[in-house]
Amino acid sequence: MTEFPSRALISKSAFVNNLDRIRDATSAEIMAIVKGNAYGHGLERIARWAHEAGVRWFGVAQLAEALELRSYIPQARILTWIYTPGTDLTEALGAELDLSVGSVWALEEVGKAAKATGRTARVHIKVDTAMARGGLSPRELDEQRWHIAALEEEDLIDVVGLWSHLARADEPDHPETARQVERFEQAGALLAEAGVVPKIRHLAASAGTLWHPATHYDMVRPGVALYGLSPDASVQTASDLGLRAVMRLEADVMTTRDVPAGTGISYNHTYVTPGQAHLGVVPLGYADGIGRMASNSASVTINGKTCPIRGKVCMDQFIVEGEGIEPGHVAVLFGDAREGLATADDWGAKTQTIGYEVVTRIGSHVPRVDAP
Ligand SMILES: *Cc1c(COP(=O)(O)O)cnc(C)c1O
Repeated sequence: MTEFPSRALISKSAFVNNLDRIRDATSAEIMAIVKGNAYGHGLERIARWAHEAGVRWFGVAQLAEALELRSYIPQARILTWIYTPGTDLTEALGAELDLSVGSVWALEEVGKAAKATGRTARVHIKVDTAMARGGLSPRELDEQRWHIAALEEEDLIDVVGLWSHLARADEPDHPETARQVERFEQAGALLAEAGVVPKIRHLAASAGTLWHPATHYDMVRPGVALYGLSPDASVQTASDLGLRAVMRLEADVMTTRDVPAGTGISYNHTYVTPGQAHLGVVPLGYADGIGRMASNSASVTINGKTCPIRGKVCMDQFIVEGEGIEPGHVAVLFGDAREGLATADDWGAKTQTIGYEVVTRIGSHVPRVDAP
């Protein structure tokens, strides 16, 4: 079926389940976040499933991803927020993308592109309410709001949305979220004074959607929860949230061997067998996005049994220990907790990162296959 000995199985039923859980949590419109190749799950596949399930809004970081997505879903509303000065925005306007405007230069350049194309740019004004990342500062917004109003007056822009991003929503008791809501409200009021009233206000990603109802406004922007991972498993696990892992990563064991006590494994012999051991070689490595932090820390599941990684993860392979492993057996790195598997969140916890990064960095060459 594929030349690769590994694969990421992508489950539609899990995805649809997760979308339903998000819908249980909010009555707001849903913007499915599909940046980073849909968190490594495959942009086209995920976008089509979401569209089929009734999702009308999509969010991607990169302009190039937005243009790609437009080719798959001509009817979708697509918000994009990463572009830099000098980027040709005329193509974006031609593709009827919704553009985030989060800096003064962006406002200028979107206005110019609109003039050049004779189109009205659909704009979501981004305000910085805590991240110190994208977004107009309160002061910039104060200075620019009349200019924004003028551009809207000239039909160069249509201010569709006002938006911001939460910094600490995965700390449910932290007061910063309420402060962000307050700043967001103030931004809305400033714009309204200038006669600009965006129809769609949006603030919440997955954590806000699940843990902060006061942040839902008109639309929510879940990403990670759609893929069946928790925004923070130390607050609630995916299972606690009724979410199911969409990705299951597995590989066929390439070879096995029995070794005596005292055998050094992989580069630098960071693991030396304390006794006799049965080893299997799993053909995935850091070239495929399996970080070296998994060396001597994470485990795989083979035939329902947990088999720890021994020694250092190499570029294309790593070694595990477990009784009864044979060549051709399937080693599952992570998947759904209900199937007795470690989750990507678990894998992240063992490798000094988060589930988000675990799934997103799986190499694009690893085949994504529909789960049975
Ligand atoms: C990534 C992202 C999201 C989705 O975040 P999750 O925590 O994955 O739900 C929402 N909004 C913005 C601006 C993002 O960058």
